[in-house]
Amino acid sequence: MTDMIEDPVLPAAFVPTPTREFNAASANRSAARQLIRPALKLVRSTDDKSAAGPAIPIPIPPLPIAFGSRALIYKQDPSVTEIGLRRVLLRGLFGIGPSNNRIHLAGVPPVAPNSMNDFVQAPDTAAFDAVHTFSIVHLALTMCQRAVGAVIKWQWNSGANTDPIKVFPHAGVTMNAFYSRNEKALKFFFFNKPGAPTPAPVIFTCRSLDIVAHECGHAVLDSLKPGWLSGTGNPQTGALHESFGDLVAIFLALSQLDQAEALIVQTKGNLHNKNFLSDLAEQFGLALGRDNGLRNADNDKKLSQVTSEVHDLSQVFTGGIYDILADIFLLERNLGVTGEDEALTLVKCAQYVFRLVLRAIHAAPATNATFANVVNQMLVIAAADGKPVGYRNAIRNQFTAREVVVSPTPLTQDVSDDDVFEAVDHPFLTVKENGLQDRSGCCGTMRLREHQFDERYLQEELDELQGGIGGEDDPHQQFDHAEAAE
Ligand SMILES: [Zn+2]
Repeated sequence: MTDMIEDPVLPAAFVPTPTREFNAASANRSAARQLIRPALKLVRSTDDKSAAGPAIPIPIPPLPIAFGSRALIYKQDPSVTEIGLRRVLLRGLFGIGPSNNRIHLAGVPPVAPNSMNDFVQAPDTAAFDAVHTFSIVHLALTMCQRAVGAVIKWQWNSGANTDPIKVFPHAGVTMNAFYSRNEKALKFFFFNKPGAPTPAPVIFTCRSLDIVAHECGHAVLDSLKPGWLSGTGNPQTGALHESFGDLVAIFLALSQLDQAEALIVQTKGNLHNKNFLSDLAEQFGLALGRDNGLRNADNDKKLSQVTSEVHDLSQVFTGGIYDILADIFLLERNLGVTGEDEALTLVKCAQYVFRLVLRAIHAAPATNATFANVVNQMLVIAAADGKPVGYRNAIRNQFTAREVVVSPTPLTQDVSDDDVFEAVDHPFLTVKENGLQDRSGCCGTMRLREHQFDERYLQEELDELQGGIGGEDDPHQQFDHAEAAE
């Protein structure tokens, strides 16, 4: 039985505005308005200048439904102090936990909403971690659902099965985080910072927006493309899974107006300038066994420059999508008097590019999908959306430069509707000798045994066992037996 956490004492800075008093006054005003609904409000006719002119009715629009709870989240993670925390408004009805029909927390004390139905908690507490993790999963799922314009079930959901995903913010001590289809769970672990003097600070993977969004991306993609998680298919299929997790993290950050504005200010609108979005989370990347951070989106890697290792390979696709975002942003940006704020343009472009990617992935083959499959679907969908040809030129150019597809026409010409883009053959990008993808640089999801789906994974361990020492065959042990018998 876990203790319920209620009404924590918060530093003043963490109390959301409006204040309780403001809210109470606002409720009174709303109640007063309710009294005159659905009656019509009466105003004096503007045609009649006399004070005693005839009253005319005007309809009053219905009051908006204000279901929602406020929460605090890290814009990136606790190490990125310059951008820190932000408040978010989660739309919907949330129970104690927080929880809803799609997401249940586990392994941490449930958090109750305060009297304003908010879940604002002080950082560095289990209650904060619970709310933070729930919030990021909720926001990432919402973004993905909006991108496809439909509710996205979890992989195990069917007509009768509406089981939510179980989310463990404090799953245990290890440097890991993963999505598990068998356990219907997202698990986030914690560990002491490696190499730090005692007492080493504890790093919680659930406090990273990137990591939570990345793992949630695996869960969403496993629902849309259940055949993509197996470890025996084309390494590019596994790479699409890893890349999608990173893209969910990047585009979730870019769906937040203040993050988009911060990026514009930092880069002066050139997304290829060094920035927090493309090269952060190195500390957490290390935690997941990567030596180059969770994000390495702004890279120039071509398929001939990476290995078959799935995370290495994934950078080519992630980098291509980031480049396309940068190109489309430049196409749409309008700094003139008829234009709009750049940050707003960036948010819109990012929203479209993510929609494009997710729909293209959805339309790609059910198994063994390649980067070229998704790129071709992106070209088809961008054309069907009626987007300017510049969008398709950007898609073609970036993935031709990265040696993913071959363009039948020079890149100086516009893409034509008749163009067919063949995949570039890279015979060295194959599975390992045992027929499995090399996932050694991936996050925990891709290295879970259940997602390998193959006895050969276990055979690897048995083979290693053959080369081990000790056991009954060991001559030293036989000697010991002999001695013991005497
Ligand atoms: Zn991953």
